[in-house]
Amino acid sequence: MTSSARPHLNRRLAEFGTTIFAEMSALATATGSINLGQGFPDTDGPEEIREAAVRALRDGRGNQYPPGPGVPELRTAIAAHQRRRYGLAYDPDTEVLVTAGATEAIAAALLALVEPGDEVVALEPYYDSYAASIAMAGGTRVPVTLRPHEGSFRLDLDELRAAVTGRTRLLLINTPHNPTGTVLTREELAAIAELAVERDLLVVTDEVYEHLVFDGAEHLPLATFPGMRERTVSIGSAGKTYSFTGWKVGWVTGSRELVGAVRAVKQFLTYVSSGPFQYAVAEALSLPDAYFEEFRAGMRARRDILAEGLTAAGFEVFRPAGTYFVTTDIRPLGEKDGFAFCRALPERAGVVAIPNAVFYDDREAGAPFVRFAFCKREEVLREAAERLRGM
Ligand SMILES: *Cc1c(COP(=O)(O)O)cnc(C)c1O
Repeated sequence: MTSSARPHLNRRLAEFGTTIFAEMSALATATGSINLGQGFPDTDGPEEIREAAVRALRDGRGNQYPPGPGVPELRTAIAAHQRRRYGLAYDPDTEVLVTAGATEAIAAALLALVEPGDEVVALEPYYDSYAASIAMAGGTRVPVTLRPHEGSFRLDLDELRAAVTGRTRLLLINTPHNPTGTVLTREELAAIAELAVERDLLVVTDEVYEHLVFDGAEHLPLATFPGMRERTVSIGSAGKTYSFTGWKVGWVTGSRELVGAVRAVKQFLTYVSSGPFQYAVAEALSLPDAYFEEFRAGMRARRDILAEGLTAAGFEVFRPAGTYFVTTDIRPLGEKDGFAFCRALPERAGVVAIPNAVFYDDREAGAPFVRFAFCKREEVLREAAERLRGM
């Protein structure tokens, strides 16, 4: 990563310069490439939800500072969603907090719960804000690497257990997992829960892709496992679930004590955000199940278009069970350095992708993997597949 900010950036954050997404998106623009780098949809979410936002804005709801924890309509809708889908009961007044996207929820949770010097165990490859948020909190990140095994990236439970020390404060878990598309199984989650209880750890779970699971895979929130409700901060977001990533409406659910701690930090980060959008997301959360089924089916079709295109172009494809990313191995193409490959790809094929190595501390482990986003219109994916095949 380039780092023009480095001369002034403090030591805790010196390693975090400009993100790869800025570099690759600039490259996409400069070369007129199809940008399958950053994960945002190229079509907006449901029209009636857009209209709900317009209505809120016109009716003067949320144009001024909304309540710090989020508007009551949204907190109630979040609690109802958790109860309906997962049987998890949360008090909308004390156990639900609205945040400026999942990104703020992650940062606020880590700033609230981690003491300087505490170790935070996180699955590697990481979502890109985790390392920076752990660093902002003064924590030390301890990666547990998901490794390719029979077509998907899996967690080695022994490795996870071995990563926990006397200094470990919390586990930072992401399922469905970006960038690998892995959805942790019931057995894996049960083992994580047992470990957390046994070692008395807190758990922060990033579940922003909870509705994007395919082929019969099931998303199971860690908070539903025995002993977990009181030690788990669960994070969700409207961005990925409703295709409104610009609205930045996220949320946290958990015990009164944990949510209270996160809220204490959140009030000094953004205080509040996204006023009118909060009302619209409250309506989105009440959409019938048919919405989620249709959304999932549409994304699965796109996944298949891109996965087949990548296979035809010679990549090894790890077909994701969740999220909207496909991770590939470039070694069958005679390549081994994902960075070099992604920097050259716009010129070679007119397509932009992200080298997974940026999501690893162990850059070697991530070197041959490259991530493509499929949350784009089908014709865009077909064109990208065509271009890659002609490479
Ligand atoms: C996109 C994403 C986020 C950020 O969500 P926002 O609501 O846009 O802040 C967090 N975690 C993961 C794994 C993501 O892919």
